[in-house]
Amino acid sequence: MFVYADNAATTSVSKAALDAMLPYLTENYGNPSSLYSFGQKATEALTEARETIAACINADPKEIYFTSGGSEADNQAIVSAARLGARKGKKHLISTQFEHHAVLHTLAKLEKEGFEVTLLDPHSDGVIRVEDVENAIREDTALVTIMFANNEIGTVQPIAEIGALCREKKIPFHTDAVQAAGHMPIDVKAMNIDMLSMSGHKFHAPKGVGVLFARRGMVLTNIIEGGAQERGKRAGTENVAGIVAMAAALKESCDNMEANTAKIIPMRDKLFRELSKIPHSKINGSLEHHVPGTVNMCFEGIEGESLLLMLDDQGICASSGSACTSGSLDPSHVLLSIGLPHEVAHGSLRLSIGEYNDMEQIDHICAVVPKVVEYLRSISPVWDELEKGELKHLI
Ligand SMILES: *Cc1c(COP(=O)(O)O)cnc(C)c1O
Repeated sequence: MFVYADNAATTSVSKAALDAMLPYLTENYGNPSSLYSFGQKATEALTEARETIAACINADPKEIYFTSGGSEADNQAIVSAARLGARKGKKHLISTQFEHHAVLHTLAKLEKEGFEVTLLDPHSDGVIRVEDVENAIREDTALVTIMFANNEIGTVQPIAEIGALCREKKIPFHTDAVQAAGHMPIDVKAMNIDMLSMSGHKFHAPKGVGVLFARRGMVLTNIIEGGAQERGKRAGTENVAGIVAMAAALKESCDNMEANTAKIIPMRDKLFRELSKIPHSKINGSLEHHVPGTVNMCFEGIEGESLLLMLDDQGICASSGSACTSGSLDPSHVLLSIGLPHEVAHGSLRLSIGEYNDMEQIDHICAVVPKVVEYLRSISPVWDELEKGELKHLI
């Protein structure tokens, strides 16, 4: 059996998205910047996609900028707020320890340029507290950037409360909503969000296309220079087919959100229930504030990498931490940020499921994981010492 359980890393392209994009790869291949009517078909498609996407998050179409993905949107949002702040002498940026590297590395670059960065710690439940944000705010704070939902542990942050606080203090607020868009309701007006990042391939559109929402009045800094596309804020011929697919996929995800959630939650709950029966295991992140499909657990004495390879043998695609960091042997910065010891943070398993999974696949995972964990422990010298009491169990 093949089970794709890594939807937080990327998703398959939905039929609706593929059908919508195909004509823009075949007969309607014109350049939207052309003046002839053939190119105008592409322009019209972009206009329509902008309207569709804006409607999904309660934004104005003029506030939607197409990018190459979530990483670019994060980079542009943060750099823009930093430049805007610096012009007013404000050079302090607030974020969290457990952001995606697209955010963390952009902040690190700005720090080298002389900005001061405060990275808040989430509590052990994987949730940032509004009071902590409030206490970090200074006279010279130029930006608060806090992710909507964490990509490794799936915890959802109090975005509306943080948005209200930032609006009251007149500080721009950006959220990396890559894991939330298409999976949870987002209302940029009600939540007082000034900038927001999305990525098509996390909700069944192709890879390499994303959105930066920037509220009217937010002055964007260009990351890519060149032509005057995207109202002069993002140069480069638009990925028309990808953008059309992204709009179709987002609309489909938002229209079916309740039904999808109702399908995913019982599968996710079964995973939590069954895998928690494994001795010395731990669920990471609050289950109360959670995206529907992400399950993150640690199994003591297990190397995440070995676990993933053995699951792969059984047809299960899963992940340990984020796709960008697996491949390295460093423990997850997200799991360390919620207070897990290094030894435990090495042994994490992320299963991220979606509406295309079914209960039979979940049963396969629930049958395979305990056996694999037991096998890996049986050949581990560390586990032997733990069992004999020569080492203390951490979980
Ligand atoms: C996947 C992801 C990104 C990066 O998006 P790309 O489109 O792959 O560049 C950024 N932030 C989060 C939270 C993600 O999960």
